[in-house]
Amino acid sequence: MNKPGIDWRQRASTLAFDGRAVVGGQRVAPAGGETFDCVSPIDGRVLTQVTRGRQADIDQAVRSARQAFEDGRWAHKSPAQRKRILQRFSEKILAAKEELALLETLDMGKPVQHSLAVDVASAARTIAWYAEAIDKVYDEVAPTPRNALALITREPMGVIGAVVPWNYPMLMASWKLAPALAAGNSLVLKPSEKSPLTALRLAELAVEAGLPEGVFNVVPGFGHEAGEALALHMDVDAIGFTGSTRVGRKMLEYAGRSNLKRVYNELGGKSAFVVFDDFADVERAAKTVAASMFFNQGESCNAPSRVLVHERIADEFVRIVAGEAPKYQPGDPLSGSAEMGAIVDDIQMRTVLGYIDAGHDEGAKVVTGGKQARADSGGYFVEPTVFDGVRNEMKIAREEIFGPVLSVIRFKEEAQAVAMANDSPYGLQASVWSDNINRAHRVARALRAGTVHVNQYDEDDITVPFGGFKQSGNGRDKSLHAFEKYTELKTTWVRIDPA
Ligand code: NAD
Repeated sequence: MNKPGIDWRQRASTLAFDGRAVVGGQRVAPAGGETFDCVSPIDGRVLTQVTRGRQADIDQAVRSARQAFEDGRWAHKSPAQRKRILQRFSEKILAAKEELALLETLDMGKPVQHSLAVDVASAARTIAWYAEAIDKVYDEVAPTPRNALALITREPMGVIGAVVPWNYPMLMASWKLAPALAAGNSLVLKPSEKSPLTALRLAELAVEAGLPEGVFNVVPGFGHEAGEALALHMDVDAIGFTGSTRVGRKMLEYAGRSNLKRVYNELGGKSAFVVFDDFADVERAAKTVAASMFFNQGESCNAPSRVLVHERIADEFVRIVAGEAPKYQPGDPLSGSAEMGAIVDDIQMRTVLGYIDAGHDEGAKVVTGGKQARADSGGYFVEPTVFDGVRNEMKIAREEIFGPVLSVIRFKEEAQAVAMANDSPYGLQASVWSDNINRAHRVARALRAGTVHVNQYDEDDITVPFGGFKQSGNGRDKSLHAFEKYTELKTTWVRIDPA
């Protein structure tokens, strides 16, 4: 995936950073003059100063978004006009792809070739897809009696607040902003304090593409400051949140304490990967779990972190996964060839290492990995780690680790496997591996998750919804269903008199 000829280190040395908020289409200084250090997890270096947004900064951004919404500079444009501007926005992202990839990698540590091929490309595609969709979705006419007409229409909600995490900063932002903007809303985005840089650049590129000023504002800052101020704001109509279940709960409380704004939560996961002994290609299943688990340093909400494998094939399965894991040994994220990069920060690295200790303490066995890596770099790296002998009630099987740590649990029977897979507070994603068509369908139906894969794990597309059952959230990102989150449904009755 590495583009030959790019010297990313050299590029990084000349890259410009700007950590100021974008409000009303312009860079603005923090209202109270406060900033925080933006640290690169690659080497612990301070990249730049970033606005520490607080109430006054959020108030300014929400005012700007509200004014832009009410005067119709965006919401009143025809869908075809909005389409064209958002298409240009997507084109601008692709034109700046190497700069954006580098910013993403320096800011949160993933391999730069993945930032380029996955994050930047998918963000651009997401925006282009919603741009294309918006002048092709129709409203409804109800089947009423002849003396009346009932129009069922979708209208933009107004001002949307988006609060997103650091694991796919640009992509998670685009899953919110693309449908919200396409539908005619204005937006205030609060990126994670751990990865604010690409969101700020996106807002500039949107203005360059012709998005009217004030429609898309970005205020960086901490969750308990800028995030809370946005989620409590009386003039924000909905919150599109992606992050932890802990903060998702708070989002619901903030709505209850303020204006009952709609809250859409895309939260954590502990996805089960269930392999039956009638699945012949054990090697493919084992290689798939390693690739999916260690991609993005294991910092993926849908990582298949809980493997349930039939005891008859478990030894062979674990041997193959353990053989695969070293291929994902972390390397320099700017090399263009490392398959795994840095953990987002020192705190998260210590959290992951703490879970590894907890696995040991509860009696699970490390088959490979288990330690910090590349400590000399000054950055935060953890080895790809596989635990065998895990029981579903252990902490490493119940809690989301959000790092490169895989837990393998053995089972004897189908019913036991299904019960264990569903015995989790989460329900984001799951997979079943079986060559028996009845079993594959039966188990796929029984698994309580927003997405279930059968005999594969890597298919994904903007055309399908993404989100979870249970404490993995509510509402769905991606696909046309995302419009449901950012529009209100209105019925208009019209009387039709007889001639
Ligand atoms: P987090 O919940 O700590 O933070 C997410 C965002 O919320 C950040 O912008 C943060 O600043 C903000 N925030 C934190 N506390 C807040 C508060 N009190 N009020 C308002 N905002 C607050 O999550 P994270 O560590 O950034 O991301 C990891 C989590 O995100 C994992 O649980 C992961 O599973 C989840 N995630 C889910 C999906 C999905 O689509 N379901 C996708 C990616 C990540």
